Amino acid sequence: MRDLREFIEKINRKMEFTGELRFDEPMSLHTTFKVGGPVDLWIRPGTKEFPVYVAALLGAAQTEGIPVFILGGGANLVVSDQGIPGIALDTGGWTGCDFKTQESGTCEMIILSGTPIDAAVEAAAEHGWSGLEFLAGMPGSIGGAIWMNARCYEKSMSDVLAETEALNEQMNRILIPVEPEAFGYKKSPFQSRKMLILSARCLVKKRDKTEIQAEMKNHRQDREQKGHYRFPSAGSAFKNNRDFGKPTGKLIDELGLRGLSWGKAQVAPWHGNLIINTGNATAADIRALVEEITCRVKIRLGLDLEPEILFVGDQKVSNGESVSINSEIA
Ligand SMILES: Cc1cc2nc3c(=O)[nH]c(=O)nc-3n(C[C@H](O)[C@H](O)[C@H](O)COP(=O)(O)OP(=O)(O)OC[C@H]3O[C@@H](n4cnc5c(N)ncnc54)[C@H](O)[C@@H]3O)c2cc1C
Repeated sequence: MRDLREFIEKINRKMEFTGELRFDEPMSLHTTFKVGGPVDLWIRPGTKEFPVYVAALLGAAQTEGIPVFILGGGANLVVSDQGIPGIALDTGGWTGCDFKTQESGTCEMIILSGTPIDAAVEAAAEHGWSGLEFLAGMPGSIGGAIWMNARCYEKSMSDVLAETEALNEQMNRILIPVEPEAFGYKKSPFQSRKMLILSARCLVKKRDKTEIQAEMKNHRQDREQKGHYRFPSAGSAFKNNRDFGKPTGKLIDELGLRGLSWGKAQVAPWHGNLIINTGNATAADIRALVEEITCRVKIRLGLDLEPEILFVGDQKVSNGESVSINSEIA
C-alpha cells in the first residue's frame, strides 16, 4: 500500500478537519470482538465537517484506487489478523439526533449514522417518542443497524425507518425512501451498493415515557441475562433460517456444541449461537470455529448455516489444535 500520509495531508491542507486519525491502527481497538490487525489509516472525521470531508476523501480514494472500509461501531465484525489495506473510515464522530414534530402528532426523528444505537434509543425516550425501544442495549451505530437491517424482539430496523440519506458512488447526497421489498431478514439494499449511509429518518409516535423506559429496561435486562456482555463477541454468530424449523442457537445446542472451542474462541457455554473471545482469540480462531460448527451441522443435520458476523479482510483459518468441548469458561 502506498504511503497514505501524503494522500491525507493533501486533503487536510485543503479541508477543515477536526477529527482524529492514526496510521497502522489495530482494528482490535474498534471491534466488539476485540480482534483485527492494523489498518493503514484509521480516520474519524468530526461532525462539523463530516459530509463534505468524507465526500472529498472517498472521491480522492476512488480516483487513486485506495480501498476504504466504512466502520460503524464494529459490533458485527471479525477483522482479519493481517489487518486491512487502505483506509478505515470511522463514522463515530458523526453523531446527533433531531426531532421534527408533524401536525398529525407523529414525529420524524433524524439520526446521524455514527450515533450509537443506544444513544438514539435514549434520546427518543427522553422526548417521549416511541419506536426505537426494541433496539435498547444493542451495540453498534445507527448506520450499521441500517446496513445490517438489525433485528431483535420481532422487529427490524426497516420497520421504523422511513428514509435514508446516503452518499452515493458519485459522491452525491441522495435520499432513499424505504421500499419494504428492498429490505428483508438481515438484508438491506446497502449490502449491494458502495454507499455511505449519512442519516436515518425514522417515524416515531408519542407514548408515555415510563412505558418506553420500562420496555427498554426489559430488553436490556434480557440481554444481560442472556450473557450478551459477559465476553467480547459480535452477537449472534449465525443467521436464523425459518426453513430450519427452530432457531440456529437451538440446533447448535442440540448437537451438544455449547462450549466448543478453537484457540481462545468458544461457543458460549450458555448459548449456542454466541461465539465469545475468552482471552486473546484471533480472527483465525473465530473463523475456524465458525467453519467447524458449519461443518458439524451440515454433516449431522444436512443444513447449511450462514454466518451473520461479517469477516473483513483476507481471512486465514487457524490450525489451533484445541477443539474441545468445555462447558466452563477458560
Ligand atoms: C452483544 C451484542 C449483541 C448483539 N445483538 C444483536 C441483535 O440482537 N440483533 C442484531 O441484528 N444484531 C446484534 N448484534 C450485532 C450488531 O450490534 C448489529 O449488527 C449492529 O447493527 C452493527 O452496527 P455497527 O455500527 O457496529 O456496524 P459495523 O459492525 O461497524 O459494520 C457492519 C457493516 O455495516 C457497514 N456500515 C456501518 N456503518 C455504515 C455506514 N454509515 N454506511 C455504510 N455502511 C456502513 C460496515 O461497512 C459493515 O459492512 C449484536 C452485537 C453484540 C456485540
